[in-house]
Amino acid sequence: MAEKFDAIVVGGGLSGMGVGALLATGGKKVLVLEQSPYLGGRATSFKYKGFILNIGQHAGLHMGKVDQMMEAVGKPLDDEKDKGFFDEFVIYEDGKYFTMMDKVLVDKPDEAQKLYGALAEIEDKDMSKFDGMTGAEWLAQYVTDPKLRWIAHTNGTVCCTTRKLEDMAASALIESMKVVTRSPITYMLTKGYGSLSQALAEVIKSKGGDVRTRAKVLHVIVEDKKVKGVSVEIGEETPDRTMENIVKIEAPIVATAFPVWDLFRVLDEKLFPADFVKMCRHLDLQVCNIGFSMASKEPLIPEKKFIFADVPQKNDAPLPLTILPTSVVVPPISLEGNHLTEFTCVCEPPFGTDPERIAKTIAEIKEFVNKIFPGWEKKALWIRPFFRWEEPSRSAGRMGKFRPGAKAPGIAGLFFAGDTANSRTVPGLEAAADSAMICANAILGK
Ligand SMILES: Cc1cc2nc3c(=O)[nH]c(=O)nc-3n(C[C@H](O)[C@H](O)[C@H](O)COP(=O)(O)OP(=O)(O)OC[C@H]3O[C@@H](n4cnc5c(N)ncnc54)[C@H](O)[C@@H]3O)c2cc1C
Repeated sequence: MAEKFDAIVVGGGLSGMGVGALLATGGKKVLVLEQSPYLGGRATSFKYKGFILNIGQHAGLHMGKVDQMMEAVGKPLDDEKDKGFFDEFVIYEDGKYFTMMDKVLVDKPDEAQKLYGALAEIEDKDMSKFDGMTGAEWLAQYVTDPKLRWIAHTNGTVCCTTRKLEDMAASALIESMKVVTRSPITYMLTKGYGSLSQALAEVIKSKGGDVRTRAKVLHVIVEDKKVKGVSVEIGEETPDRTMENIVKIEAPIVATAFPVWDLFRVLDEKLFPADFVKMCRHLDLQVCNIGFSMASKEPLIPEKKFIFADVPQKNDAPLPLTILPTSVVVPPISLEGNHLTEFTCVCEPPFGTDPERIAKTIAEIKEFVNKIFPGWEKKALWIRPFFRWEEPSRSAGRMGKFRPGAKAPGIAGLFFAGDTANSRTVPGLEAAADSAMICANAILGK
């Protein structure tokens, strides 16, 4: 007899764990299946030489969707205990530091008024108008002042992880400028971002559901255009695997919570309308995170500063660099008596697919950091480079209406969550949490 659940969630990243916990809280018997040995997906953390490392620098926006989701499942994040905040956002340029206040003294205040006035007038329901337009096109309607353009660009690159205004979707830029006005405080988690998924797993289990790792969904079973369950490959892949490793689990509802371009690995694309398939495949343009973590005895930056700088690139847009004094903001992250600083840049394919360019860029970032902190490498106990695919590109034609909604077209019982689906929120953690809430509400009929 096959096992039965009310709902199965495929993927144990932040969005999948969120959907699972929200459904469990809504009274459903839920099973979350994760192919890897750990939970959290791209928002996971691990121990390294006594430090807690996220897989690449991670910072969240305070009072956003992650907070809302954690509250909804009874695991609210405590500002005093769980989070660390930055005191200021500073920009390093030509050997000097500037605050955003220095930068808002633009040459054309009338243009600033026009820009922020236009921003205030855009309501959520109108955002889809800006999904196909670039940030550069939208800004050009209001702004000629290079300083104002620079502010918008900086805001966009930090929140939307897209380097050029000419690529960035206007809706993503608008959303990020609105988010920053609403909620300017960026936070980091004292236990690492993987702790979110661990807390969500506790919720699911406490409500009679289950969370299984090393459980790869091979197929979502669909009969007569209705979801019936999944087939799952359980355990490590070994050469002597038999059919016993593949089991069927039944459920009338399946939510996939991984990037939609991977959907057709578990579902036959012929089940979907052709334009939906095209949409999912078009979204497969990812941005990457490239950088390194550094351990030292003394903190490289003793203050709680979020430092932003542009790493110059020849014949190309600069790489936006953020430098975070992680252990100063969240001390429990580092080995006692030590400090952790994280440096990261956003880059894009084809840039991010060339190993030589990756190595060269890491060297260039290190050299650039030497201008800000001369001799910094000598202070390092260790430096650990990272390179990770971060999230779907928020470029024009890939945001909002160009992404799938929570409900699959034409298949009853199939739903989507994840940072490629149904949310226009920025940045990625916020989008993953928002998509989880939208997906769970669609399933629960809220
Ligand atoms: C280096 C880095 C830095 C980042 N920095 C930030 C930041 O500072 N701020 C921010 O907001 N966001 C940041 N992000 C983005 C954020 O982490 C992601 O947007 C978010 O975690 C995505 O969550 P998700 O659940 O949608 O997808 P994922 O985390 O990708 O989860 C999908 C899960 O599904 C599993 N899966 C896939 N197929 C199957 C299958 N067939 N069967 C079972 N399981 C399957 C995968 O193994 C994975 O665990 C960063 C990401 C990276 C990588």
